[in-house]
Amino acid sequence: MEEQLDFAPVGYLVMDQELKIIEMNRTMIEMSHVESAPTHMHDLLTIASRVYFQTYFIPAIITHGAVSEMFLRLKGPDGPIPVLMNTRKRNELFECAFMQVPIRNEYENELLNAKREAEQISHATAEANSQLQLLLDEVECKREELDVMNERLKELTITDVLTGLKNRRYLEEFLPDIIQESGLALLMIDIDYFKKVNDTFGHHAGDSVLKELADVLADTIGTAGFAARLGGEEFVAVLPQMDLSEAQKIAENIRFNVETHDWPYQPITVSIGVASNSDCNSFPDLLNEADTALYNSKNAGRNRVSVSS
Ligand code: GH3
Ligand code: MG
Ligand code: MG
Repeated sequence: MEEQLDFAPVGYLVMDQELKIIEMNRTMIEMSHVESAPTHMHDLLTIASRVYFQTYFIPAIITHGAVSEMFLRLKGPDGPIPVLMNTRKRNELFECAFMQVPIRNEYENELLNAKREAEQISHATAEANSQLQLLLDEVECKREELDVMNERLKELTITDVLTGLKNRRYLEEFLPDIIQESGLALLMIDIDYFKKVNDTFGHHAGDSVLKELADVLADTIGTAGFAARLGGEEFVAVLPQMDLSEAQKIAENIRFNVETHDWPYQPITVSIGVASNSDCNSFPDLLNEADTALYNSKNAGRNRVSVSS
């Protein structure tokens, strides 16, 4: 072997088609730490590399006539020596060059670790994103629940708990707008001698009468307006776009329906005062007018309707 090839900076060997080693340069002898030139390629390789070599080398060299960068491990005195092997088929022989690759090996391991870390980070990020989406969905859900509860709360503040009718707060808040938009008639309705119901049959009986009266009022007023509870046993009927004489008819219907209703404890009657906002403009004024008319009904003997003069 030429001296130049013998001491070349890569390991070099030639083997025949049965993988018997024919010659080997000095660099290869040093690299593989063999004392005398081995006779067979398998003698140079670790067991794992030998299996790999047997499986892939012959098919590759037969198909392509060459093998590039086959990663193998040589048997070494202190453990396996990783090498890359290039082989070319020439004159029915295989010429092989071996380059030791510990650095490349470490570099590949580092790359592999970096790739694994990147995959873990990407996995963790996807996980965090889906957690975040779950939290955002939950927040949105809670916000919707809160909206519903706020709406319900708002409804409760303008509703009379006992009868379910609108309450005084609702009237104070919305009646000025209704007055301004359309004008209205207002009936002030008060149960006659209601105290007797409580005194005779108890507060609970009184409550059920109040609830039943709320139904009678709503049924009688129908679509002409709505009933509200001012407090105690006092109610109002709000009748938008209605003049005094029409309102008086509805008041009379209410009085009649209450008088003739089949009450559970004792007969019930109401006194009513009627006012319209043609001659007074604010809600308190209108309430006062209706109250004065109601007072007249009470004074005149109760169970009757009086119209504001
Ligand atoms: P009048 O014909 O003059 O209106 O006599 P009245 O007894 O109806 O009037 P008064 O103002 O003397 O008494 C009203 C009664 O209404 C007194 C009170 O106990 C009762 N009351 C007020 N609010 C409620 C309630 O929420 N439930 C019940 N059961 N009773 C109530
Ligand atoms: Mg009363
Ligand atoms: Mg009263």
